[in-house]
Formats: sequence, C-alpha cells, structure tokens
Amino acid sequence: MSKVVVSKFGGTSMGDALCMLRSAEVSFKQNSSIVVVSATSGTTNALIELGKTAQAKAWSESEVLLKKIRDRHLQIAEELKVSAATRTQLEALFEEKESLARGIHLLKDCSIKAMDTLMSLGERMSSVLFTEAMGQVLKTHGSGKKSELLDVRDVLRTDDAFSKARPLTEEIISLCGKRLVNLRDFKTVYVTQGFIGRTEDGMTTTLGRGGSDYSAAILAEGVSADILEIWTDVAGIATTDPRLCPKAKPIDEISFQEASELATFGAKVLHPATLLPAVRKNIPVFVGSSFESGAKGTWVRKEVEDYPLIRAMALRKKQVLVTLSTPAMLHAHGFLFQIFKIFNDHKVSIDAITTSEISVSVTLDDSALLNKRLIADLSEIADVQVEENLALVSLIGNNINHTAGLGKKVFETIADINVRMICLGASKHNFCFIVSEEQGPLAIQRLHQKFIEGQ
Ligand code: ADP
Ligand code: ASP
Ligand code: MG
Repeated sequence: MSKVVVSKFGGTSMGDALCMLRSAEVSFKQNSSIVVVSATSGTTNALIELGKTAQAKAWSESEVLLKKIRDRHLQIAEELKVSAATRTQLEALFEEKESLARGIHLLKDCSIKAMDTLMSLGERMSSVLFTEAMGQVLKTHGSGKKSELLDVRDVLRTDDAFSKARPLTEEIISLCGKRLVNLRDFKTVYVTQGFIGRTEDGMTTTLGRGGSDYSAAILAEGVSADILEIWTDVAGIATTDPRLCPKAKPIDEISFQEASELATFGAKVLHPATLLPAVRKNIPVFVGSSFESGAKGTWVRKEVEDYPLIRAMALRKKQVLVTLSTPAMLHAHGFLFQIFKIFNDHKVSIDAITTSEISVSVTLDDSALLNKRLIADLSEIADVQVEENLALVSLIGNNINHTAGLGKKVFETIADINVRMICLGASKHNFCFIVSEEQGPLAIQRLHQKFIEGQ
C-alpha cells in the first residue's frame, strides 16, 4: 500500500523557477501526497519591510517595495509559462498586498494582526506558482496525477496569538479528515502553504519565523502521515551549522530527543516545535537537500542504531542573562514561584537557569527585553541585572549527565573563553553554557574539533 508522504520545501528550494521545478521533481520521486512550501527566499523579510515602510514612510517607498516583490514573482511565472488561471490568482494576491499596504499606510499602523496577513502573502504567492510547477512535472512524467492548491487556512486552525499562533490539534485533525477525504486515492498532490493558519473567526495568523517546518509536521499529524520530509539547502542535519564550521559532518540518524534539543538550542535547520507533532504520532522525519536529493540526508526517529555521547552542537545567539537577587530568598520558599509567574504572565520563555542562595539567573532571547513591563515587574520583587550580547553553546548527545570527565574535557578545550553560566544535569541529552556572543563561534569550532573531528 502507498505511503502518505508530507514534504516541505524551504525558501531557497522555492528561490526561482528552476528551483521550483527541481523541488517538484523531488516531490514526484518521493511520491508526496502533500507538499508544504515556504515563501520564495527573502520574501518574508521583504514583506516585513513593506509593512514597516508603509506605516512610517512616504507611500512612494512602499511602491518601490511592492514592485520588487511583484516583479520577482512575475518573473518566476513567466519562466514557468503559467496558465492564465494561475496568472489571475497571482494578480489577485498582488492586489491584496497593495490594498493591505495602503491600509497600513493610511492608518499609520502596522499591527501584528495586519503584519500576519501581510506576511501570509509570501507563502500564498509561492504556493500558487509551485502548484503550476508541480502540475507540469506530474504531466511530463505521465503520472496521471494532478496538483491541487490547498488553502492551508481551511485546515490549520490556530489560536489568536498573532505572530506566534499555536495550532489547535483536535480541530486540525478533524478539518483534515473533512477537506482531504481523497488523500488516500493518491491521485492528487496537494500543494499548500507553510507558516500560516487561521483562527476560529477567520483571521489569518502565522506560527513564527521559520514556521513552515512546523506547519508540515502539524499537517503530517493531521493526516496521520507515514513520513515527513523537510527539504532544505543542506543535505541533512549536520554535527553543527556548516556555516559555522565547514568541517561539520552529516548525521545519518538522530533520535527525536536529540534533534529536538538541537532545534530548540539554535540549529536553524529545523523549527524548534517541528518534532512535537512527529513525536506524538511517531512519524519518522527525513531532512535532505532539494539541490542534492540523491545525498544520504538525515533520518530523525524514535529509536536509532547508536547513541554517541556527543552527537552535535549548536549556537544560539542573541541571548541575555537576567540575574535577580534579593535577601528575601534566604531560607525562604515561594520566590521561584513568584519569578516564574511574572515570566508566565508576560509569556516569556526561559532557556537555561541557575540559582544560588540569594540569586537566580535565567537566559532569555534578547527580544524579551522589548517588553519593558517584564523588567519593571521583576524589579518589584528583586534587584535585576541584565547582561546582553551573549550566546548559548550547547552540546547535544546521550548520557551526558552520567559521564565522568566530560566537563573537564569541555572546559579544557575552551580554557581561555570566559563561561558566564553553566547548565548541566537536567537533561541527559544536553550540556549548555553561556559565553559572549563574540566568542560563541570560536567555542563551537574548538569543541567541534575536539569532540567530532577528533573522533
Ligand atoms: P529553509 O529555508 O529550507 O527552511 P533554513 O535556512 O531555515 O532553510 O535552514 C537551513 C540552514 O540551517 C542551513 O543552511 C544551515 O546553515 C543551518 N543550520 C544550522 N544548524 C545546522 C545543522 N546542525 N545542520 C544543518 N544545517 C544547520
Ligand atoms: N517564510 C517564513 C519565514 O521566512 C516561514 C519559513 O520559511 O519557514 O520565516
Ligand atoms: Mg527554515
């Protein structure tokens, strides 16, 4: 019996007409049932710039940006020689984009709600073009299948936390069942958008930057897929970011737990939440390059053949360390509760934490500081110190908290780099510490040499 395969292609895999056709060939070869696409590379950033420009600058500046985005997509349309119907769909999206930008300009207000709808146009435009590319490839191969554009918002129901909306799993499963009744006939390849969703009352939302991986996983769960594929610009998950360390090695197989840690602690190759739905439904995930589809790639599974002590490492930049001190903590209880309550009220997530008798240090993404009330509220219960320009270095592997001598090896390797904070013990898969952002890449390069290249 055929398998249900959900394949996601990132921005670079949608970069131009050639990339789209190459990605469509990959989907055909993989027998994908659902193809989830990102916006063409750079388009989400361009749409954000458009929103900000429309809000604050002269209309003529927005017109320049509108034209740039339009021309880029029209060029792909021309190269793909799209049908009149596709051209009409594309024109409607251009019009919507212009109207939205005008509205933002007139109101001088680009709310996160408006920004989500504006950003959604990136994926909506690329998916219209990719449906055409997919159709052409299916026809060339005489497959007897057709491609169909699916508006993902018809199935991907979310809450109304604009810009970081959370999927509503039960509703999504039920909507997928209704909308995709013919999925298991394997006659149709559904092409749809990553990154976006819709609330109960019809508002367009986004799942956060890089969220298309997550969308694909949510859909894979929604249709109980057999395989989830993430096609990107690197041939799988590597021992560290190849941009940081050219000697990074591809990983053939990695467990769900290790890959989740890697994604959460900064490896951009997977959106941090991607594996949650895959783990819930035990769906194996393949990560590969659409540019090199014959390369081995990486399988992420519940169980794998080997469990090395150090499998990979990641760097998460733009970290801040917030230290809260108060004598009230001395021999007292409930202080951590008060602190966490404040972070919870502000919906700020903490990455790493250490405590001493009268102080607590936590690491946060620097975007948390945009919320001025957070620091003000914390200052009401403790002395607050904020250190910026830091990076979180993580070693990912197995049995880390039960291996003697690991700490010694790690800190000998980076003896001349100041370690501002250490987190070890909570997870057997992760050992992380904070260094200055400037020294982060050097720390990773040294550790990679010691633990990966030296093996
Ligand atoms: P896409 O647009 O396809 O989603 P991304 O740019 O989001 O692609 O993710 C792919 C990038 O992730 C790679 O180009 C690579 O630089 C980066 N990356 C970070 N850590 C890793 C890692 N451990 N293995 C592979 N790639 C990584
Ligand atoms: N287009 C979105 C972004 O650039 C989502 C994605 O590509 O995953 O963040
Ligand atoms: Mg990505």
